[in-house]
Amino acid sequence: MSDCTRITCDLCIVGTGMAGMSAALFAARRGLSTALVGRTGEIIFATGLLDLLGVHPVEEGRTWEDPWAGIAALVRDLPQHPYARLATEAIRSAFDEVLGFLEESGLPYCGRPDRNVAVVTSLGTLKTTYRAPLSCWAGIEAREGRRPCLIADIQGLKGFSARQIAETAGKAWPGLKTARLVLPALQGAGELFPERLARSLELDSHRQTLTEALRPHLEGVQAVGLPAVLGVSRPAAVRAAIEARLGLPVFEIPTMPPGVAGLRLKEAFERGLAGQGVMLFLENRVFRAAGSPAGAFQLEAGRAAPEVTIHANAVILATGRFMGGGLAADRHRVREPLFDLPVHQPGERDEWHRTEFLDPRGHPVNRAGIEVDASFRPLAGLGRAAFPQLFAAGSILAHQDWMRMKCGSGLAMATAWAAVAHAQRLLGRGEPAGA
Ligand SMILES: Cc1cc2nc3c(=O)[nH]c(=O)nc-3n(C[C@H](O)[C@H](O)[C@H](O)COP(=O)(O)OP(=O)(O)OC[C@H]3O[C@@H](n4cnc5c(N)ncnc54)[C@H](O)[C@@H]3O)c2cc1C
Repeated sequence: MSDCTRITCDLCIVGTGMAGMSAALFAARRGLSTALVGRTGEIIFATGLLDLLGVHPVEEGRTWEDPWAGIAALVRDLPQHPYARLATEAIRSAFDEVLGFLEESGLPYCGRPDRNVAVVTSLGTLKTTYRAPLSCWAGIEAREGRRPCLIADIQGLKGFSARQIAETAGKAWPGLKTARLVLPALQGAGELFPERLARSLELDSHRQTLTEALRPHLEGVQAVGLPAVLGVSRPAAVRAAIEARLGLPVFEIPTMPPGVAGLRLKEAFERGLAGQGVMLFLENRVFRAAGSPAGAFQLEAGRAAPEVTIHANAVILATGRFMGGGLAADRHRVREPLFDLPVHQPGERDEWHRTEFLDPRGHPVNRAGIEVDASFRPLAGLGRAAFPQLFAAGSILAHQDWMRMKCGSGLAMATAWAAVAHAQRLLGRGEPAGA
């Protein structure tokens, strides 16, 4: 440990998913010196759609057009859900601040005031979400207006079939034409991966190849749908250039994960957070963390082994669930590996899962996680906070099933917003807007 670099900060955030990235943004903008440590998370698997609340109750599969009415019902029915600890204004503020940041970062989102929208997926099914990348918007409107469109796929790109989309979505969206584009100049030999294709379309000559391949299929269509591969770092410019060549609106359809949409979010956050002065330890893991009752924390982080010791006055744990390692399970128990916090979970191992894998109620283990107090501080038992200045945010929290409730990004952003507001208050750094 003596060779480790040492840094000090007000707040160290562990986890670089949607919750950790949002928390770092909020903290830096509120003047907290902030370190962010994390390995690549679920964010690169995300569709890029930002859900607030789509489904409640999950056992009925009821979808909500008005997510705010859905949240009111959810909070009434499930008073332990993390949304029940948040004022509606806090959830709105979190969303607005992240969306404003993404727009400034060249990744604009859109939606309808206080309404969910339905986005066609790569399977042709509909996904309810609150805010979609602007690159999807022409497709959302075209489907609602039943306008004739061309859906095109690209030979070699797996998991995206225009014909399948048209067959499934076409029942309620007549006039869909399909085309398969063969683009040897872009794909070279072998398989085609979304990221590679997206980066190649940042070159004008490759966009020209794409538009020339589309041109014979445009008769009678009012918009063109393509897999979400239209650029990584400058998607708006890439799409605008293709639209200008075609003289038609172009929209993206999210691809199967890992896709480009999640990568765009990750890159936008990483660029923006560096610009806000956040100390970034990307692709780093926190190996050990210790807190004192007085409030200070010491965290050892690095790539393969500890390389840096971070001294922080407060920590936000945004380490996610099983996939990223925020929760771990052995044969008998679900554990939180970093601080060894108590994890709310079913009493016995054989209660983790229901008999039917596709049981519409989901599985009890999906609602396991960290229980928090009103300030989003993990509980140690008997309602006491484990540490006075340790907070938790995102999918690690107990009493939610973001995947079935379709509330992943909203839950991550809003709980991050609240955790930062409470940390700010406890650190005595100004009065936060009501959490
Ligand atoms: C396939 C898929 C599709 C999705 N689609 C959508 C969607 O359509 N709409 C939507 O709103 N949301 C979607 N999501 C959800 C969303 O991407 C996030 O998973 C969710 O918002 C939870 O974010 P999180 O930050 O809490 O956790 P995560 O994203 O899991 O991030 C936790 C991070 O902590 C890191 N970590 C854990 N332990 C340590 C440690 N000791 N040291 C350092 N780092 C650590 C992990 O590696 C990871 O990077 C999707 C997710 C997946 C997987």
